[in-house]
Amino acid sequence: MSRSHRIAVIPGDGIGTEVVPEGVRALRAAADAFGIGLDMVEYDFASAAYWQRHGTMLPEGWFDELKDYDALFLGAVGWPDVVPDHVSLWGSLLQFRRRFDQYANVRPVRLMPGVTSPLAGRGPGDIDFYVVRENTEGEYSSIGGRIFEGTERETVVQETVMTRTGVDRILRYAFELARGRERRKLTSATKSNGISQTMPYWDERVAAMAADHPDVAVDQYHIDILTAHFVLHPERFDVVVASNLFGDILSDLGPACAGTIGIAPSANINPERRYPSLFEPVHGSAPDIAGKGIANPVGQIWSASMMLDHLGEPEAAAAVLRAVEEVLAGDRAALTPDLGGSGTTASLGAAVAAAVKGAA
Ligand code: ATP
Ligand code: MG
Repeated sequence: MSRSHRIAVIPGDGIGTEVVPEGVRALRAAADAFGIGLDMVEYDFASAAYWQRHGTMLPEGWFDELKDYDALFLGAVGWPDVVPDHVSLWGSLLQFRRRFDQYANVRPVRLMPGVTSPLAGRGPGDIDFYVVRENTEGEYSSIGGRIFEGTERETVVQETVMTRTGVDRILRYAFELARGRERRKLTSATKSNGISQTMPYWDERVAAMAADHPDVAVDQYHIDILTAHFVLHPERFDVVVASNLFGDILSDLGPACAGTIGIAPSANINPERRYPSLFEPVHGSAPDIAGKGIANPVGQIWSASMMLDHLGEPEAAAAVLRAVEEVLAGDRAALTPDLGGSGTTASLGAAVAAAVKGAA
């Protein structure tokens, strides 16, 4: 084997444990087809079952255990019947994002063949863009508090924090992503007509970064009208970059515009590669369908494709994505119920893995 990558596999909870094996199956097929060595080690932490046994979501030495992997491949975390969501999320996923400095949250929004979009009249190829969300600062700071509590003057404040380092690094990541794409277009989400300090600063840094990237076409929209354009004119977008809060909203709206949540992937990237990046589907543990074998594994498999790309395996990544497209466009019998099919998690996963082998 010429190239080799070490991956920590963390299935987590609910349908995470059902779709991760299908992601692994696609990865193994791609590794075989392209002569890539994949050393995958599975972990049982970051799950409700682990929490029940140990009273914590992660073992004490988790940081040192995981920090030298090339990537983390995660299913879904959360099982509210056993552990409250804020405890399971803060105790695992948010620790990974924070300690591994995964400041870029990246979600492709692409209309796939065979998937019905809520946006009438669109076909495959019409919607194909990325949402890049700042993942570490901005509106989600814990600075603030209450005064005059319990009185008529009760007052609450919460500060938004933007640092030059934090803003510039997410913008640089988004500009570089746009530069590598055909359309080379970047859209910035702002609200500088209403938010008078942080958003004008964001716009200023966008302008400065644009001057360094003359080959990228830049436009900006206020977040309110931008959400409308996501629905009315999704074909306008190529790379959309946004602060933490605006990015949170857009990165749920985007995949919703492209059909079922079951197919949407995401990446939490540490672009400097000082720490491992994390790849996971957009969906959660879905307790309502867990254990039935009908969860759609495409979000997990597409996340595997993004991971291969990040690992420097663009051909294998493209083959996995092509395989997904081929299967989605093909026989409905192999597809899961959310796609209108009569298949299972395993039948859809097996069909994609077979198509990966065929694509090489
Ligand atoms: P989170 O807690 O991570 O924000 P959630 O618990 O609010 O997510 P999900 O677990 O993503 O939400 O489930 C939302 C809905 O989408 C559920 O009805 C679920 O069954 C459905 N769903 C989620 N993922 C899939 C999938 N892979 N295949 C089919 N249906 C899915
Ligand atoms: Mg949930």
